Amino acid sequence: MNVQARGANHPGNMVMLPFSNLRRLREERPLMFVKGKGIYTFDEHGRDYIEAVSTFYCVNLGFSDEELIEAAVEQLRALPMYPSGIHRTVPVVMELAERLAEKAPVRGGHVMFATTGSEANDQLLKFTWYANRVAGEPQRRKIISRRASYHGGTIATTALAGSPALQEAFGIPTGDSLFVSHPTWPIGADPGETEEAYTDRLVEELRQTIEAAGPETVAAFIAEPVSVSSGMFPPPVGYFQKVKALLDRYGIRLFADEVVTGFGRTGRLWGSETLGIEPDCISCAKGLSSAYQPISAVVMSDDFYSYLEEGSNSAGIFNHGGTYGGHPVSAAVALKVLDIFERRNILGHVQSIMPIWQKALASLEDHPLVTATRCFGLAGAVQIARPGEGGPVAASPSLAPGGLSEQLYQEGLAAGVVVRPLQGCVVLAPPLIITEAEIGELSRRLRVALDATLAALP
Ligand code: PLP
Repeated sequence: MNVQARGANHPGNMVMLPFSNLRRLREERPLMFVKGKGIYTFDEHGRDYIEAVSTFYCVNLGFSDEELIEAAVEQLRALPMYPSGIHRTVPVVMELAERLAEKAPVRGGHVMFATTGSEANDQLLKFTWYANRVAGEPQRRKIISRRASYHGGTIATTALAGSPALQEAFGIPTGDSLFVSHPTWPIGADPGETEEAYTDRLVEELRQTIEAAGPETVAAFIAEPVSVSSGMFPPPVGYFQKVKALLDRYGIRLFADEVVTGFGRTGRLWGSETLGIEPDCISCAKGLSSAYQPISAVVMSDDFYSYLEEGSNSAGIFNHGGTYGGHPVSAAVALKVLDIFERRNILGHVQSIMPIWQKALASLEDHPLVTATRCFGLAGAVQIARPGEGGPVAASPSLAPGGLSEQLYQEGLAAGVVVRPLQGCVVLAPPLIITEAEIGELSRRLRVALDATLAALP
């Protein structure tokens, strides 16, 4: 059976697809992708699509990179699997940890591997509670996150989403979570409010939230440096510096979720570097292996790690781990990604292409459906509204089925460009290897989709 025909006769609802309408899967076969090359994927009928969001913000080096494939094959041949644990590991895992620790923007650098971004963030919470118990502060359990953020799909990370669509339907316990506003400058500003005053208002909201909860009960604040999935609002000037100064006053740790922003998305290796953030710990995944293999990591500061070390020594063992954490094949691919970043000067390419990207998105602002565009690094958002209804809308990471952005997403598929629909906007984060000509083609297809969406309006 050739790859195109495989699965052709299966009803779609045999497999439960994430973030899908499960009833619709019963009636309609999902779109099936069979190949990828560079920034393009190909469906079972041979139609090509520009992956304008790198699928799930992750295939940063594009599809079918021979060097990444070779790295995986070589490790598969040498030692396809050996779990890291019980004082045993493999050379590629050690080497990757060393390189990550050296590059991560945290003081010191101790690395724990897992498989997904959710798991990495989950680990961060679990380790924080552990560290605080060792430090004699078991009551410091609460984690602050921003409303409408996304840090993963496990129970503990869903509890950080601050989004009813993600939490309430599943009855997620959120007792240890505290929520503050996500900066949406300038949309979220009061009339006449300056950027500085807006920042100060958000920092004051954070201060009041900490005070109301009891500062001695708050363990950490988690945030993405810039959140593509919350609608791509770059933080207002000075936001993270003021947040960090406040957290330091209360002894609350700062965690940077670099699952999307890590590995070049913002023009530097880490979003924290681009935004001048000094986190205590970071989590990363996706771009770490360009998503060719599942792997994630948390990188912890010396100070944070010292409590884990102390606790494990008292207990005799650190009682946490997983079979696939630091899988050798994933680690080999991730090492090759780091290698490629240096050898092919990926960051140099991203920085040189960013102005072209920004110009291409801005050029869509003349379209009747487009009310604004936002850009940061090699990511962006196109804010849309029906003509005459262009009020400000703050996005949320849950998809908005049935809305205008969902229609634009569908027309995008028809035009051969895959975007991510959110409330009031679509977001974009193409593979970092995209060229100037490909950016031109992406924006041409997006305009075709915008025109079709406009034409279909009643
Ligand atoms: N954190 C952020 C910012 C994400 O966008 C995501 C996924 O999109 C995650 C964490 C969870 O990562 P994963 O889907 O690999 O579990």
